[in-house]
Amino acid sequence: MINNTRFIFITGGVVSSLGKGLASASLAALLKARGFKVRLRKLDPYLNVDPGTMSPMQHGEVFVTEDGAETDLDLGHYERFTGVDAKIGDNVTTGKIYSTLLQKERKGDYLGGTVQVIPHVTNLIKEFILKDTKDVDFVLCEIGGTVGDIEGLPFYEAIRQLSYEIGHARSIFIHLTLVPYVASARELKTKPTQHSVKELRSIGIQPDILLCRADREIPKKELQKIALFCNLKPEDVIPALDVKTIYQAPIAYHEKGLDMQVLKAFGIEDAKEPDLSVWNKIVANINNPQREVKIAIVGKYIKLRDAYKSITESFVHAGIDTNTKVKIKWINSRLLTEENIEEKMQDIKGILVPGGFGIDGIEGKILAINYARTHNIPFFGICFGMQLALIEIARSLCKLEDASSGEFGECAHPVIDLMTAWQKDQATETRTATNDLGGTMRLGSYPCNLVKDTMAEKIYAKSNITERHRHRYEVNLNYKTNFEKVGVVFAGMSPDGNLTEIIELKNHKFFVAVQFHPELKSRPFSPHPIFCAFVRACYE
Ligand code: GLN
Repeated sequence: MINNTRFIFITGGVVSSLGKGLASASLAALLKARGFKVRLRKLDPYLNVDPGTMSPMQHGEVFVTEDGAETDLDLGHYERFTGVDAKIGDNVTTGKIYSTLLQKERKGDYLGGTVQVIPHVTNLIKEFILKDTKDVDFVLCEIGGTVGDIEGLPFYEAIRQLSYEIGHARSIFIHLTLVPYVASARELKTKPTQHSVKELRSIGIQPDILLCRADREIPKKELQKIALFCNLKPEDVIPALDVKTIYQAPIAYHEKGLDMQVLKAFGIEDAKEPDLSVWNKIVANINNPQREVKIAIVGKYIKLRDAYKSITESFVHAGIDTNTKVKIKWINSRLLTEENIEEKMQDIKGILVPGGFGIDGIEGKILAINYARTHNIPFFGICFGMQLALIEIARSLCKLEDASSGEFGECAHPVIDLMTAWQKDQATETRTATNDLGGTMRLGSYPCNLVKDTMAEKIYAKSNITERHRHRYEVNLNYKTNFEKVGVVFAGMSPDGNLTEIIELKNHKFFVAVQFHPELKSRPFSPHPIFCAFVRACYE
């Protein structure tokens, strides 16, 4: 069943938001740089079946995989750091485990038995961890939340059992904690880390490696103290200090010996040194930009910046490619008005309207699109941003004053409307207005043909592309000629010509809007071409 694949379980303690996802992604990047095949997985203890139905303001962005899973934003970090496409099976939640379990129970799979957390829930978690892992050298499994959370317990028990079953030679535990600086004592404090490890050990898990987040160097004495009290070798207590850019994390972890200690824990002595030249180049570029450009993101979830994580990272990547530091000005679309738009857009060189849902806040976005269009300011619309761009153009240029989207209720001119049927992989998918909301959008990778002599074709420098989607509504092609008459170019279409994927505007410096989410495929080592072209248009 299990072959030589090795498992690394990453847990967190003391507080959340310490960067467990980044630590996991960095370690995976280091192992990959040493020539190993890696796969990353996230186990989330909450009860939603997936994060698709959660508010971006609570949980941050929903990251969509090629195969159409709506997943935790940490999977975005995993992809950006390793270049390995995540799959549906790489993110599981308590909700998904229980929904599988209850279906099995109803079918009679457990007939005669009492269904319990141990062993039934834990067995399903173990199955999930092991699934499709045969062809990789290392599986890195991150457990969401912090040790001590009640809802996390079945996950900790499952990884404990799994490690017992496959043996310590093929499984290790890494625990990420916080070593806070207490100003009044002028000291870094190790006690929270000690307590966190104690908590972990009380459920039968002895960490092999500790990653200690701190805002300054941790003195050797303190590292030794942590080692002694947590039953570890001092070299396995690894400081994880703040870095200037997240892309420095693999280098920083390598300098502190993380990958080396991980390999030692597995008894691997002969691995080649990692080739970190890509990461060094990325960091050097980020730290030495030749210019700065300010771009506005007009959205309504801006209170939590994680809601637009992949977009801000895509700007960092485009900045690497164009030697530019992209400064983001966050504009709350709910507060943008005709009275304050001039002042807010004063030093702005480009405007991006990102994805979104619901009528609330759309007027501010439409205003921003109108401003970009009429002032010849580079504009980039993503998903909802494209739909609203067409609504703005319909209202202002096509003289369809009541143009709107089916998403906002009935209107005379639904230029954006619910798609009730479309083709996916030779099969037809259908939807109705009363469908469940979870997992029923047009999701994942779809092909798109680019039209000759369009900006899109020039930007991609090819004629067939695939991009990832996450939306319920589509362009209503009954209005295609209305749009074309006023200078809209339908630059990218689905192969059957039924779905609009990219539009642009003639006689404008840069007005490109897309129905998909290009930000999900941008990587620091291969920035997305539209983001690069947009940034160039902003400074040229
Ligand atoms: N709300 C729009 C739709 O469902 C756009 C979604 C998005 O921007 N991701 O089609």
